[in-house]
Order: sequence, then C-alpha cells, then structure tokens
Amino acid sequence: MAPIQVKKICCIGAGYVGGPTCAVIAAKCPHIEVTIVDLNKARIDAWNSDHLPIYEPGLDEVVKGARGKNLFFSTDVDKAIAEADLIFVSVNTPTKKSGIGAGFAADLNYLQLATRRIAEVSTSSKIVVEKSTVPCRTADAMRTILEANSKEGCKFDILSNPEFLAEGTAIADLFAPDRVLIGSLQTQSGLDACQALMSVYANWVPKERILTVGLWSSELSKLAANAMLAQRISSVNALSAICEATGASIDEVAYAVGRDSRVGPKFLKASVGFGGSCFQKDILNLVYLSESLHLPEVARYWRAVVEMNEHQKDRFARKVVDTLFNTITGKKIAMLGWAFKKDTGDTRESPAISIANHFLSEKARITCYDPQVTSEQMWLDLTDYGSIPAEPIKPHFSVCQSAEEACANAEAIVICTEWDEFKELNWEKIYENCPRPAFVFDGRLMLDRKRLQKIGFTVVTIGTGDRL
Ligand code: NAD
Repeated sequence: MAPIQVKKICCIGAGYVGGPTCAVIAAKCPHIEVTIVDLNKARIDAWNSDHLPIYEPGLDEVVKGARGKNLFFSTDVDKAIAEADLIFVSVNTPTKKSGIGAGFAADLNYLQLATRRIAEVSTSSKIVVEKSTVPCRTADAMRTILEANSKEGCKFDILSNPEFLAEGTAIADLFAPDRVLIGSLQTQSGLDACQALMSVYANWVPKERILTVGLWSSELSKLAANAMLAQRISSVNALSAICEATGASIDEVAYAVGRDSRVGPKFLKASVGFGGSCFQKDILNLVYLSESLHLPEVARYWRAVVEMNEHQKDRFARKVVDTLFNTITGKKIAMLGWAFKKDTGDTRESPAISIANHFLSEKARITCYDPQVTSEQMWLDLTDYGSIPAEPIKPHFSVCQSAEEACANAEAIVICTEWDEFKELNWEKIYENCPRPAFVFDGRLMLDRKRLQKIGFTVVTIGTGDRL
C-alpha cells in the first residue's frame, strides 16, 4: 500500500500546546494545510490578531509568517475535522475537581467530547493523535468512543504523540526537539499511521530524534518524564532546607552533584517550588494510576514529590514572615514576578499565588509586578476565578506597572519569578526608597547576593544558611 500522505491537519485546542506546536508544523511544512480550532472564540480571535493569546519568545514570527497561507485559526471545529486527514487532540486534561479520584485523576471530559465530535463529523478515515497528556490506556477509551459513533466506512487509527515542550522555550524546543515520541499499536494499520506522522516531523526533525514505541509506553512516558523532572526539583529543594540549616550552599552542592555525568547539571536549581499546569497534575495522575493498580507504595513515592513542593512554597513564605520579626500585618511586601517561570505569561499553579495567599492571610499589603501577567489574570488567580470574593482582598493587593513602583517603600522585596529584567534593576535606587532594614528574599537564586549586600540589603535566599 502507498504511504499515507498527510495534506490537511486539524488541531483541536488552541492553547499553550496546540497553538505553538501546530504553528511550527505549518511553518516547517508549507505543503500541509494546518487549521487550529477551539470552542473559545476570544482565544481564536486573539490568534487571528496582532496580540496572540499567549506569550512565547519567537511565537509571533512563526504565526505571522504562516497565518493566512497554510495556517488558519477557526471556531469551525466540525469543518476542520471533516476536511483533515490527521487530527491532533490538544485539549486541556485538568485534574478532576469532584467525584471519584477528585484532586488526583485526570478529567478527560474535554478529550472525550472532542473524540466524540471527531467520530460524529468524520465522513472519511482519519489518523487521530493524542497530543494532550493523558493517563495510560486513554487511547483505548478513545477507540471505543470513535468506533461506537463513527459512520460506515470510516476507520480511525489512534497515535500517541505527547508534547515535551517547555513553556518559555516552546518555539526553540519545537524547532529542535530532544526527541519526538510517537506511540502506535503494532498492527499494520497502526504502523502505517505512525509512518504518516513521522513523515510530517521528518520535514525538520532528524530521523534519529523521532522515537517510535508502543501506544501505552508513549502515554506513560509523558507522565514519567514530567514526574522525573519534578522529582529532581523536589530533591534539590529538599536539600536546600538542609543547606539552610547547616551553612552549606545549595548552588555549590547542585554544582558538585551535577558534575557527575550520571546526574547531569540541568534541572538542579533550587527555588521556591515548581508550578505550571503540568508537573503537579501529571504526578497526581501517576499517583492515581498507581493506586488504581493496587500499588500503594508506588503511589506514596510519587505523592511525596508534590508534598515536598507544597512544603517548599510554605517554607519560603514562612521564612519571609519569620525574618520580618514574625509579623507582616500591614507591612508592604513587593512581589516581583507572578508567572510560574520566566518568559511566559502562564500563571497556572504558580508558586507566587500560594505565597501571596500566605501573605494575605496575615494581612500584609502586597504590591506586585510581572512583565507579562495582566492585572486581570492576577485577580482571577487570587479569587480562584471568582469563587473567592475580591472585596476583602482589594485593600491588600495592588498591581504595579514596574518593579521600581512595586518596590517603593516596601519592607521586603520577594522574587517569585526569575525574569531576567530583575537582574538589571537599579538596586541602588530601589534601596534608597526602602525603609531600613531593607530585605530581599530571592526565591529563585537569581540575584547577585554580594552586590545587594554591599548596597545595604539584607539578602535571604533559598538554600543558603547564615553560617557562611
Ligand atoms: P490549554 O488549556 O491552554 O488549551 C486547551 C484548549 O482546548 C482550550 O483553549 C480549550 O478551549 C480547548 N478545548 C477544550 N475542549 C475542546 C473541544 N471539545 N473542542 C475545541 N476546543 C476545545 O491547555 P494546554 O496547556 O495547551 O494543554 C493541552 C494539553 O497538553 C494538556 O493535556 C496538557 O497537560 C498537555 N501539555 C501541556 C504543556 C504545557 O506546557 N502547557 C506541555 C506538554 C503537554
């Protein structure tokens, strides 16, 4: 049989993954027409405008280079599904809020609705690709839904193609991925579908970086990769507490440990804790999977990674309070950074939110600045999307247009996100406008501690004790 030629791609879900991933496919494959669809009209309008709905370095150029040529954004989900030969499903798979497995299991409602739509609308055979991060064996459920709702003569091959991009470096990651992982059933039809998707990526990804595995291995690999990355952060953060108590320095310890080629230097930066929409969700998913497979010890092992992260955020907030002589009531605290990491406007599960809530519970006055997060988003986060009344918080939280404005007269400056611009601030001038003693809490280990101390600041960092 002749290899399947992919001519039209539809991506369901125009979010942090679907948008950049399929924009890069369009940029790298001018012979393929790519349509990214979403039910959220405001999001699609933004993708079609000069102000894209997400901030990622390099994304503007990629989108604007291909949009209107072979890249389209639309709310017409049915049309894009019907016309495509290959469909990425890149919808959100959040943690379940209620019911069985609440707080742990993945909520697959969006994925199942999208799958059902594919079956109902398709009048020809399709390759359906799981791009969303899903529990192991989700493709089984998708296949059942597709087969139960499909029209006669339509055949669906399901592939798993998890996304490993990191927000903040998404475009660089997509242009030169460490690996592209494709999982398929080991049937002729599954292998043919796999070959078709491989031929898309082969337009720019070297062959040796395209890995093909079984469907279930691919699904589990994504959860495993995130769990292991988060575990590294929790490990280094656990060590940071020991450093603070002993006078060791976590930067030095991480440097020494990372020089072992079996460990490697990446992802060993101590911090206020990990955030983002994926790490916690995916580990909890693994915990749920382990429990449902009657593996309680395995579940406990992975759960500890999340617990350590919660502890680190809490420990940092307490350290601020302790250092400010055990009371922050009425004190002005400047928070620099709200996004969960630099170079993104994404605030999902950002440690800054937990830290702010801690300060607010003690009635501090927060002034916050982040170069990419809007005031609207900060208020959505603080009120948990409207479920907590904003009025009582209003006198205690204000959003500033610059770091200098946030820091003016602050009794403490707390770095929550490692934005490069915080390194370049005129710290001398900021010091002049601070009451004494002037405290900087570096939750990201990013500032030049000695320089700040020379200016006059008392600097408190993660993983560095006072016993220097
Ligand atoms: P997102 O919330 O930013 O985007 C998902 C989009 O899907 C939303 O805009 C939503 O409106 C749309 N959607 C939901 N149901 C739909 C339907 N039936 N039809 C059309 N549109 C629909 O989510 P995201 O961050 O892009 O993540 C998507 C998936 O990728 C998740 O499973 C996530 O775990 C995974 N992932 C995320 C990242 C990341 O860094 N954000 C990285 C790797 C994998």
